[in-house]
Amino acid sequence: MSTLIINEIFYSIQGESSRTGLPTHFVRLTGCPLRCSYCDTEYAFISGTKMTFNEIISQLNINMTKFVTITGGEPLAQKSTLDFMKKLCDLEYSVSLETSNCLSIEDIDPRVSIILDVKTPGSKEENKNIITNYQRLKSSDEIKFVICNLDDFNWAVDYMNQHKLYNYCSILFSPSYGEMPLQQLADLILNNSLQVRLQTQLHKTIWGEINGK
Ligand code: SF4
Repeated sequence: MSTLIINEIFYSIQGESSRTGLPTHFVRLTGCPLRCSYCDTEYAFISGTKMTFNEIISQLNINMTKFVTITGGEPLAQKSTLDFMKKLCDLEYSVSLETSNCLSIEDIDPRVSIILDVKTPGSKEENKNIITNYQRLKSSDEIKFVICNLDDFNWAVDYMNQHKLYNYCSILFSPSYGEMPLQQLADLILNNSLQVRLQTQLHKTIWGEINGK
């Protein structure tokens, strides 16, 4: 029987990506091989409950929303995640996956929208980025940079150009909460004429850092 270790399942407003503002079911998986400096979900590193696919799906309701976000932790660290996302797509959910670019995205069902989090030096995990993942992205996927400071911003601009990331999909710049002021990042994007989307974490604007998941 197919199972996953689940940290939490909840219904909330999507705070990130082009789906920002949409009521969404979130399925947070346990475990992550990274330890980013700014991680706000350390509680998902170990804590979790083994659940069958059917038990997880019984907590979702397509009449409340068809949008499901698979997050973590790092969801791809559990092998069954690939089959689970396929099953959700078969049930006509609109599935997005938040993944950290430290594991291959090769076998993900093409119906899943991928948000690929490219790690910057400010995360202290930038050496884990898998460069071959970029060519596997669809035009409907998104690449995200969490920007911690000015050095991160400059690194991200150079990295985008070096790997021609504009060619693959949309690019999001998100300020690291409590480190990079939103207005400073907005000014940097405008002053450098970047074709990227400024992203806030809307859920934290609504509910604050503690309650905004
Ligand atoms: S990849 Fe995500 S869950 Fe893992 S340490 Fe980094 S921010 Fe936290």
